[in-house]
Amino acid sequence: MTIYNFAAGPATLPDSVLEEAQRDLVSFPGVGTSLMEMSHRSKTVQDMIQSAEDDIRSLAGIPDDYHIMFLQGGASLQFSMAPMNLLTPGGHADHIVSGSFAKLALQDAQKVGDVRVAGSTEDQDFVRVPYQDELNLDPLSDYVHFTGNNTIIGTEWPTEPDTGDVPLVADLSSNIFSKPIDITRYGLVYAGAQKNLGAAGVTMVLIRDDLLARSAESLPSMLNYATLAKSHSAHNTPPVFSIYILGLVVKWIAAQGGLEQMSRQNEDKAQVLYEALDASEFYRGHALPEHRSRMNVTFRLPNPELEAQFTADATTEGLVELKGHRSVGGIRASIYNAFPKDGVSALVSFMKEFERTHG
Ligand SMILES: *Cc1c(COP(=O)(O)O)cnc(C)c1O
Repeated sequence: MTIYNFAAGPATLPDSVLEEAQRDLVSFPGVGTSLMEMSHRSKTVQDMIQSAEDDIRSLAGIPDDYHIMFLQGGASLQFSMAPMNLLTPGGHADHIVSGSFAKLALQDAQKVGDVRVAGSTEDQDFVRVPYQDELNLDPLSDYVHFTGNNTIIGTEWPTEPDTGDVPLVADLSSNIFSKPIDITRYGLVYAGAQKNLGAAGVTMVLIRDDLLARSAESLPSMLNYATLAKSHSAHNTPPVFSIYILGLVVKWIAAQGGLEQMSRQNEDKAQVLYEALDASEFYRGHALPEHRSRMNVTFRLPNPELEAQFTADATTEGLVELKGHRSVGGIRASIYNAFPKDGVSALVSFMKEFERTHG
């Protein structure tokens, strides 16, 4: 039986990436030992990291005035690292709160410095993201932080908020490289790898060079963007294997046709699922249609008992990890870049049959 994994992260990886990693795991081509046994100062590992970086640059059109870093501590460490590095003395930042991770980012940032809420949809249970005209952005703030896709609730920004000349800092953990990105609109982007980029253990950070000047000398080196950028992702031992998998995933995206093609496929997959939701009275989508996520599709059934039955029955059909996040309940189908269209079709068929027998 084919298993379709709807997990929100760590999530489905392309089969070809897993197979290539498996083939080369014991003996890396041209070297004879495993990548995991090699010094991060070796030419093989340095070349591997460099080529991951080059491939990201060409895939997403990242110009030379942005550094690409592979860091540890997950996306969650960036919640505090961003303010540690980017807040200027006496300065403050604006955060836009559109979901659970956005809230966590705010809470950690507020432990670091003067961080304000410039917009929030929490009073509407985060069923949409804030509209531009609801944002109360201070043109004097050091930066504005937002969360591109709200993984738990299932909403996504159709486009970045407009922050004028204030640098935009974005947590794109759950929609990075699911569509083209105009990086020049961002000062800093971070994304944990385990949703759209590969395996857990590495966080990709893209930072515009001029922002590196803000990192204070007094910061511990492992928390200092400028230090980490200078050392080219090898200030200490980097997570070599996770960077390697990330590199394979980036190559896989390019081979699929790049970010435009990813966007078309993701749009297509999400549409199939949302059409099924819209056509039914039995299933109710969680997010408002205009801000629905193409990555995490969340919905409810008439009651929690039916939801439990739904996930249990789906599991026996090979449709696994459909249970919604504990904070929201219901069902969540995460359908990132590597999730196959056939899996979406299988879920839609299952939903129709479940509704017929339980509706
Ligand atoms: C998963 C996720 C995180 C947390 O990532 P970690 O790498 O586990 O720290 C943060 N933000 C968003 C939007 C996420 O989806």
